[in-house]
Amino acid sequence: MPTLHDQVQSRRTFAIISHPDAGKTTLTEKLLLFGGAIRDAGTVKARKTGKYATSDWMEIEKQRGISVTSSVMQFDYNDFRVNILDTPGHQDFSEDTYRTLMAVDSAVMVVDSAKGIEDQTMKLFKVCRMRGIPIFTFINKMDRQGKEPLELLAELEEVLGIETYPMNWPIGMGKDFVGIYDRFNNRIEQFKSEDETNRFLPLNEEGELEIEHELQESPLYEQTLEEIMLLSEAGNQFSEEKIANGTLSPVFFGSALTTFGVQTFLDAYLQFAPAPQARMSTSGEVDPESEDFSGFIFKIQANMNPKHRDRIAFLRICSGKFERGMSVNLSRTGKPINLSSSTQFLADDRNTVNEAVSGDIIGLYDTGNYQIGDTITTSKEMYQFERLPQFTPELFVRVTAKNVMKQKHFHKGIHQLVQEGAIQLFKTVRMEEYLLGAVGQLQFEVFEHRMRNEYNVEVLMERIGSKVTRWVEADKVDENLHSSRSILVKDRYDKYVFLFENDFALRWFEDKNPDIELYNPMDIK
Ligand code: GDP
Repeated sequence: MPTLHDQVQSRRTFAIISHPDAGKTTLTEKLLLFGGAIRDAGTVKARKTGKYATSDWMEIEKQRGISVTSSVMQFDYNDFRVNILDTPGHQDFSEDTYRTLMAVDSAVMVVDSAKGIEDQTMKLFKVCRMRGIPIFTFINKMDRQGKEPLELLAELEEVLGIETYPMNWPIGMGKDFVGIYDRFNNRIEQFKSEDETNRFLPLNEEGELEIEHELQESPLYEQTLEEIMLLSEAGNQFSEEKIANGTLSPVFFGSALTTFGVQTFLDAYLQFAPAPQARMSTSGEVDPESEDFSGFIFKIQANMNPKHRDRIAFLRICSGKFERGMSVNLSRTGKPINLSSSTQFLADDRNTVNEAVSGDIIGLYDTGNYQIGDTITTSKEMYQFERLPQFTPELFVRVTAKNVMKQKHFHKGIHQLVQEGAIQLFKTVRMEEYLLGAVGQLQFEVFEHRMRNEYNVEVLMERIGSKVTRWVEADKVDENLHSSRSILVKDRYDKYVFLFENDFALRWFEDKNPDIELYNPMDIK
């Protein structure tokens, strides 16, 4: 029987962050293949396209061809149990995407070698930096012509403000892709080798090929040796400490589609990625190996099928061991809850989980007990984990009830959905109009759908477009500063917030009002 210590130390829980089309799904699939969690490549994709849709959670997601079951995946590899959390992109981007990053211990950033750092990667990256978790970079699609590797590194460092350490280096790319020069394992891994036995070519102490090989004739080999020399002399030092606090990202090159460099990446990732760490709570740090069970809810998935009102609350376990039927306390209310039915999501099938420890994610059936950020624990102290951060909404709509007679239901619905974390609510200072803020369009659709089906209210939503949102540091603001280009609103905690038309309007405002201190809660300090 493995001890709790062994079990916790074997856990690696991460999210893959990327911009759509960088190859996140393809890489995930290849990782799952190594773990034997799926039999055929294509399974994750097939789920996405709805071929394997097994449940009726979230009608909207299903219409879009995404299944909830693919949002948490687990596999065993060597002595590790790996949990991958999906961070949905495209139109499905929502605050839940950000919150998912609160539940992981590290992140893998997939970058398309031809595109470099893109918008969505940047946003998700910021949240990872806010948490100070390790970030590993996989530069994908080396089988295609992309940007120069040195240029890509410079871009990572400049745009993201992080140090990089290339664990390996591509030899050529696109049609001329030979493989990777693996600095970490001191070998060359060939992209195409006639037989498996010579896929890896060892390097000597000088970092050159140990045995004679035709590669030595290639100008690409010479060029690679020069670049490696440059990296050793002018590049960053490898530092486990910096990896651990998220200030240096180990960089790997590869091609997910051809499964090249994926296992090399996985092996190094597992070596340097952290096992579950202690988490801060209202009674101090909670040790992941402590016997008391605890965890927090980071996402609630509503069932969009009106016949099934049940929801699923995603719980990240932070300590102890989950057992079926265990009794826990919900710290917010102090009420006991029996965890009789829980579901763990696997890539292969939806299995009922019997045992899970810190690092694992379980889905709990929810009949309305939970809110996002809730802590549950068996500890008598009933502590709460740190509040999840506020994420800066970028999209806004003005919302009213279609039928004025339905005001009561309208207010109740909005209040509960805001409480639950589905959407953010703001009120304009003058007219007290209701504005809803979101990070992705999907949140509005879910809101509308749930208002209709759960609260029996048709809502009218008038787009007011995307805004640059800044909170005001002070408690008081001159309400005359409200204008169409800088809408002044209050959030649900009565804090003043300005919604600027664009970055230009923000800068103009800052110039005119140097005494007003504005902040974005998602800025890296
Ligand atoms: P996601 O949106 O990030 O999940 O991206 P996908 O995994 O769906 O990949 C987007 C597209 O890029 C698909 O057509 C993939 O086949 C392709 N792709 C993924 N990895 C590679 C790669 O290593 N090389 C090439 N050439 N194409 C890739």
